[in-house]
Amino acid sequence: MSRSFFITTMGCQMNEYDSDFLARSLINSGFIPADDPEFADLVLINTCTVRAKPEQKAFSLIGRMAQMKRRRPNLVLGVVGCMAQQQGVVLMERFPQVDLVMGPREISRFPDILELVYGEGERVVATQLDTPPPQTVPCGEYLRGRVTGYISIMEGCNNFCSYCIVPFVRGREVSRSSNDIIAEARDMVERGIKDITLLGQNVNSYLWEGERKQDFVSLLDELNGIEGLLRLRFTTSHPKDLSDKLILCFSNLKKLCPHIHLPFQTGSNAILKSMKRGYTREEYMELIPKLRGVIPDMAITSDVMVGFPGESQDDYEATLDLIRRVQFDGIFSFKYSDRKGTLAYSMVPKVDEQEKASRLSMLQDLQKQISLDKNRSLEGKHVEVLVEGESKKGGRLTGRTGSNKIVNFTCDNDKIGHLVNVTIKRGFLNSLLGDMDPEE
Ligand code: SAM
Ligand code: SF4
Repeated sequence: MSRSFFITTMGCQMNEYDSDFLARSLINSGFIPADDPEFADLVLINTCTVRAKPEQKAFSLIGRMAQMKRRRPNLVLGVVGCMAQQQGVVLMERFPQVDLVMGPREISRFPDILELVYGEGERVVATQLDTPPPQTVPCGEYLRGRVTGYISIMEGCNNFCSYCIVPFVRGREVSRSSNDIIAEARDMVERGIKDITLLGQNVNSYLWEGERKQDFVSLLDELNGIEGLLRLRFTTSHPKDLSDKLILCFSNLKKLCPHIHLPFQTGSNAILKSMKRGYTREEYMELIPKLRGVIPDMAITSDVMVGFPGESQDDYEATLDLIRRVQFDGIFSFKYSDRKGTLAYSMVPKVDEQEKASRLSMLQDLQKQISLDKNRSLEGKHVEVLVEGESKKGGRLTGRTGSNKIVNFTCDNDKIGHLVNVTIKRGFLNSLLGDMDPEE
C-alpha cells in the first residue's frame, strides 16, 4: 500500500516553492498526498527562522507533531527549511521524535536522504550548504487545477544585510541553469499554468554562466516568448541591483506584470548604513519616478522594519515620511528581531519592545489608509483579471490583476485560467469587488 504525506509550510514564497518541490518528489516516488497530518505516514514541517515569531510558531508546531508521534510511533516526522538548518542536531536532541532534519540547500538530495530514513531506519541531519540547487522534477498530477506557479531561479544570498539570517541558513548565492528554468516554465505552461513568479532572495542579480551566459534581463526576455504563458512576475528585487535595463523590461516585455516588490527597510540613511543595505534613501527614491515613468500606474510594494538597534524617533519619522512620499500599494512591515549570528545581534542600543510595537502599529495605520485610498480609486474602472478559482465566499470567482490585486467578482460561466475584464464596484483594504464585463 502507498505511503501518504502531509507538508506544512511556514514563511515565505521560497518555502512554498521548496514544499512544492518536496511534494512533487514524493508523488514521483509513489507517495500520495493526505489532507490531514493525523492520517499521514510522513509529516514534513517546512520552517522559517527569519524573525523570532515564525520561529516560535515552528517550535510549538513541532511540539504538537512530536506528541502525535508518541501516539503513532510509525509516523515519520521531518523538520525542513531554514530553522532546521540553523538548529541542526540540537533540534533532534530537543525532540527525540524527529526522524529527519534537513536544511533548504539539501532538497536536491531529498530522495537519498529519505531512503536512509525509510530503508536504513536512520535518524538523519542533513545541513550541508554547498549542495547545488535541484533540477526540475516534473509532476503533472501536482499542478492539476492550478493557474499560478513559482519557479526558484536562484538559491542563497551574498548580501549579508546586518539583521538577516538568510545567508547563514540558505548559503551563498547560486543561480540555476537557464535551460533548466526555461524547461520548468514550459512544462508548467503545458500543464495549465498561466502566471509564473520567478523567485530568489535577490532575483535581479541572477547570472548563469554555464552552457550559455544569461543575466536576469535576457532570462525574462526568453520566458516572455513562451507560448501559452500569460503573465510573468518576479520577487524579490534588491534596490541596489535594479538597473535601467531591467526597468525598461516593464514596457518592452508584454507578459511582465506592472508590479514590483522593492523592499526599502527604513527611510533613514544612518539606519540603512548600519543595516548594510548598499543604497541611500535618495538612491531608493530616485527609482520610484523611473519605474512610474515607464508604467505610470505601476504597483509598488515593499518590506520595512521598525526598531532596528539605534533607531531614533527621527529615524522612524524618516521611514514614515518615505512611505507618505512613495505611496506604496502595500507593505509587509515587521518589528526588528535579534537573530543570533548576525551583525545586528550585538548592536546597541536595542529599542524597547513596547516602543517597537507602537511604532509598528502607527506605521501600519498609515499604510492601511494609503492602500485603501489606492483601492478605492479603482472603483468604476475596468481591470484585466486572470481567473484563479472560486472565491472563499461562494458564488464568486477570484483572480488577480497584473498589479497583483485580488479581485472577487460575479461571473456566470467557468472562466478559470482565462483573462477577463472586470468593472470594480468596491475597493477594500486587501481586495477589490467587481462584476465581469459583458463579452464582446
Ligand atoms: N531578500 C529580500 C530583500 O532583501 O528584500 C528579503 C528577504 S527576508 C526573508 C524578508 C523580509 O524579512 C526582509 O525584507 C525584512 O524586512 C524582514 N526581516 C529579515 N530579517 C529580519 C529581522 N531580523 N527582524 C525583522 N525583520 C526581518
Ligand atoms: Fe537577507 Fe539582505 Fe539577502 Fe534579503 S538581501 S535575503 S534581507 S541578506
